Amino acid sequence: HAKSNGRQSVCFFEQGMQYQAEHRLQVYSQLRQAIDKEQFCLYFQPQHLTENNALIGIEALVRWQPPGRALILPSQFIAFAQESDLIVEIGRWVLEQACSSFVRWQSQGLTVAKLSVNISAREFTQSNFVDMVQSVIQETQMDPRHLQLELTESILAVDVENAISKMNELKAFGVRFSVDDFGTGYSSLTYLKRLPINELKVDRSFVRDVPHDQQNMAIIEAIIALAKHLDFQVTAEGVETHPQLDFLRRQGCLCYQGFLVSKPLALAATTRYLRRHQPSNV
Ligand code: C2E
Ligand code: MG
Ligand code: MG
Ligand code: MG
Repeated sequence: HAKSNGRQSVCFFEQGMQYQAEHRLQVYSQLRQAIDKEQFCLYFQPQHLTENNALIGIEALVRWQPPGRALILPSQFIAFAQESDLIVEIGRWVLEQACSSFVRWQSQGLTVAKLSVNISAREFTQSNFVDMVQSVIQETQMDPRHLQLELTESILAVDVENAISKMNELKAFGVRFSVDDFGTGYSSLTYLKRLPINELKVDRSFVRDVPHDQQNMAIIEAIIALAKHLDFQVTAEGVETHPQLDFLRRQGCLCYQGFLVSKPLALAATTRYLRRHQPSNV
C-alpha cells in the first residue's frame, strides 16, 4: 500500500515536471521567435537632478511586444531569458537600439548627458562582452562617454578579478558603470573600492516607505555616505512622492528617477520629453 502511494506521488511529480518542461519549452520558443522577429521595444525613464530637477539621463528598459497583444514587462521574461541564455541576444539588441536612438536624438539637437543600459550577469560574463560593447559603440557611432552600464552586485561578486579587467577595458574608452539595486545583493564593500564604479543606484525597496520607515531611511543615508567617501554618484530609484524627493535632496542624493517625475516612456514620448527638457527650454 505504502509502495503504491509512493508510486502515485512519483507519478504526480513527474507529471508536474513534464508540464513545467513543456511550459518552459513554449516560453523558450516564443522568446526565440521574439528575438528573430525583433518583437521588443525600448522604453526610456528620465533621470533628474534632485537639486534643480534638470534632466541628467535616461534609462533604457526593454518590453516584449507580441503582435496584437499587450506589452509584456521585464519581470515576466527577463529571469527566464537569463536562465536560458536568450538574454545575450536580447541584451545586444537592447544596447544597439538604445545607442542608435541616443545618437539619433543627439543628431536632432536633443541632448542628455547619459544613457543607462541594464546588463545582466549572463551578458557580462560572456567572454566576448567587451568586444560586443565595443562593436555596438562602433556600429552606432555612440559616444562611449555618454554610456553608463548598470550592473548588479551579484555580477561583481562572482569573479571580481575578471569584472575589474572587463570594466577597466571599457572604462579606458569612456564607458561608465553603475551598480543597480544597490543594497539588495551581496555587496562586499571591499570589492566596491577596487571596481571602476561611477554610481550606486539606491533600490526602490528602500525608497518606498520614506519618510515613515526609519530603518530604510538610515540605510539610504548610509549608502549616500558610502558613495560620497568612495567618490561615486548616487541615483535613487522609484521616487513617487515629494516627501521622498525632499528627503533624498536633504541627504545629498544627486539624482533620482521615478513616477514622481516620469514613468518610462515609449520612443516617441521620449523624443517629446527630451525636447521639453532641453537646457534652453528650462
Ligand atoms: P531596474 O533596472 O531597477 O529598473 C527600474 C524599474 O523600476 C523599471 O521597471 C521601472 O519601470 C520601475 N520604476 C521606475 N520608477 C518607478 C516608481 O516610481 N515606482 C515603481 N513602482 N516602479 C518604478 P521595469 O521596466 O519593469 O524593469 C524591471 C527590471 O527589469 C529592471 O529593473 C531591470 O533589472 C530589468 N530590465 C529592464 N530592461 C532590461 C534590459 O534591457 N536588460 C536587462 N538585463 N534587464 C532589464
Ligand atoms: Mg536599472
Ligand atoms: Mg534598479
Ligand atoms: Mg530595482
